[in-house]
Amino acid sequence: MGDNTIYSFSDLPIDANLGEYDIYIERMRTIQYPMLKDSLYLDHAGTTLYPKSLLDRFHQDMVSSLLANPHSASPSSRNATEMVDSVRLEALRYFRADPLHFDLIFVANATAGIKLVAEAMREQEGGFRYAYHVDSHTSAVGAREHAVHHKRARESLYGRTYTLLDAAAFVSTSALDLSDASSAPDFTTLSFNKIFGFPDLGALIVRKNAAHLFDRRRYFGGGTVEMVVCLKEQWHAKKAGPLHERLEDGTLPIHSILALKSAIETHWNLYGSQDRVAKHTLDLANRLYEGLAALQHGTGEHVCTIYKHPESSYDEPCTQGPTVAFNIKDSKGTWVSTSEVEKLAVIKDIHLRTGGVCNPGGVTQALGLEPWEMKENFSAGQRCGGEDDIRNGKPTGVVRLSLGAMSTRSDVERFLVFMDEFFVDRNSTMREWSSTAAGPTPTWHVESLTVYPVKSCGGWQIPDNMRWEVRREGLAWDREWCIVHQITGKVLSQKQYPRMALIRPVLDFKAGQLCLSGPGAKQKITVPLSQDPSYLEALDLSHIDTIVCGDPIKARSYSSSVIADFLSGVLDVPCTLARFPGSSGTAASTRHSKAHLQTGVRSTSIPRPIRLSNESPILTISRSSLNRLNEQIKAKGGKAAHQSAFRANIILSERPASLSINESPWAEDYWSGMKVGSEDGPVLDFLEGCRRCQMVCIDQISGERNQEPFVTLAKTRRFGGRVLFGVHTALASGSKSNMIRSGDVVEVHS
Ligand SMILES: *Cc1c(COP(=O)(O)O)cnc(C)c1O
Repeated sequence: MGDNTIYSFSDLPIDANLGEYDIYIERMRTIQYPMLKDSLYLDHAGTTLYPKSLLDRFHQDMVSSLLANPHSASPSSRNATEMVDSVRLEALRYFRADPLHFDLIFVANATAGIKLVAEAMREQEGGFRYAYHVDSHTSAVGAREHAVHHKRARESLYGRTYTLLDAAAFVSTSALDLSDASSAPDFTTLSFNKIFGFPDLGALIVRKNAAHLFDRRRYFGGGTVEMVVCLKEQWHAKKAGPLHERLEDGTLPIHSILALKSAIETHWNLYGSQDRVAKHTLDLANRLYEGLAALQHGTGEHVCTIYKHPESSYDEPCTQGPTVAFNIKDSKGTWVSTSEVEKLAVIKDIHLRTGGVCNPGGVTQALGLEPWEMKENFSAGQRCGGEDDIRNGKPTGVVRLSLGAMSTRSDVERFLVFMDEFFVDRNSTMREWSSTAAGPTPTWHVESLTVYPVKSCGGWQIPDNMRWEVRREGLAWDREWCIVHQITGKVLSQKQYPRMALIRPVLDFKAGQLCLSGPGAKQKITVPLSQDPSYLEALDLSHIDTIVCGDPIKARSYSSSVIADFLSGVLDVPCTLARFPGSSGTAASTRHSKAHLQTGVRSTSIPRPIRLSNESPILTISRSSLNRLNEQIKAKGGKAAHQSAFRANIILSERPASLSINESPWAEDYWSGMKVGSEDGPVLDFLEGCRRCQMVCIDQISGERNQEPFVTLAKTRRFGGRVLFGVHTALASGSKSNMIRSGDVVEVHS
């Protein structure tokens, strides 16, 4: 308990101003919120953080109380019942709700509270008519599905009106005062974790005047029934006591309720009052709002479009909470995709939220999206959490920053510095297009070829001079296998599991095996290369439905526990190996490239088959471009990027003869294709530039994450909100031959 006596709100002078209070929070949080470390957490409206002393208190309470399942006569059971009732009372008091007029029902979360009310309303004679605020949370909008829309609604139109307050967001940084029962909502729902960070528990506060609405509830469960007769005569007697006894089905989350007690006490101790929290967070939001609104490009154009109700103000706590939602435009006036913002934020350890932020009505209104546009975007593949967030030149989501009790002014400053670093274009020459026009045409050759037999795992460099087949769907043996999650069936990606880089493959054609080794190479597994059905039978492969980059595919997973144990051990997640049926596989499993031709000349865009790679059959990068990028990184004192970070299949470099003068970085931006090798060698098309994310920051040798090269790429290679490095490549449809090897001369076509 030492920590929170050192830093307790009571140490602050009574008349401390906002600046002094901010200094107090800054100091206090280094001890109370050790999980923050160097992170900038700006998603408090999602959930806020819990202080260390809350956990200490909870721990103390847990080890010192013997609690049994309530509803029994043992002393430990009675203990639990008494504890629950006293916390119920404290929770009511926290909202200044008089237990004479209100009851509090513990529920899983705010959504469960809304659902309980909507289900009770559905049972009313004549149904009910439901009106909700345009800015409602998704969970409150969902209640409309229980309402009646047609003739019956009319009958109930003249009945009583009941009010439901979804207070989940409001209570997180403001004081909810229900002391005037006559003007209070009939139902108030909220989640305690949004106020205290912990426990994960919600409440429905019901005005007793409205409690009769639950009388028609049909379901009963353990805890909400007195007696049940089964078999011949089906009869039951529901509990008749207080409302909470009739609605809390099953065993109460007693340990969470115990934690709520510690949460309320700790909050009191650290923050004094919720009014103080409200003032502090709104002061921060105001600074953030002003700071973002002031950002300008060299052209004088504003960087941020901030969404705010015209009548709300960051000076007035009754009109505005500590949340700022916005979108960004570059200096040319093009919207920057929110997923781009998110990728850069990840690199800088900034935690924010993007997309529809569970506010379907509010966001579409702010963005001026019509229902038909939403439906069109949905059919075009846009989903909550997807990457494609700019459609028809309009953003379909927002960037949302939300502040919490332990946020500080330094957080706001840090976010503004981040914005300035990546999104403000002072001289609009930030982007670099090389001029390839001047000088002799450089000659290029294939420096090396690499395949990635297991998607997202290490690469295998094809030995020098070994001739290798290029197929329509990519280099032979590239992405033949993948690792699938044993519970969700999802194909694992290095973005979530950086340690996948440490799984190194070897294609051993003599032994006819793929060999995989883990870090330290102490352990290995092998699987046969052959797709021979008799082999596969013996291996007992089972068909599984899995999802790769949003596409459903059918793969066949190995049921060997040796394989699963090896991979699960390396990655620390339950997973196993699966094989993607290659060109010989079923047509149903064919995926198609999402990358388009780089030049608009050829208008017929033929879908190209791909296997498990993310976007196109083959990825090509240029050594000269990599050199240029590394010069820029080193000029800023950063760590140069190794070629392996880009996970290319083909690395092209310039012939030494032409190096004497200048390399031609970014020449590939202008290429449409290349012929590899001799006169009748294969022809490959260049498709679009390869869009990059923070995955290039995973060191493929150590599996660790860095900031570079993504930070420099984002500053020098961002085009229309896309960070490009390398080009998607595919075998041209008219290509006569299909064998390439390292050392081959390359003739580029522009
Ligand atoms: C978070 C939130 C919810 C949902 O809360 P859950 O605890 O996830 O059910 C509902 N409404 C608002 C306004 C919220 O902020």
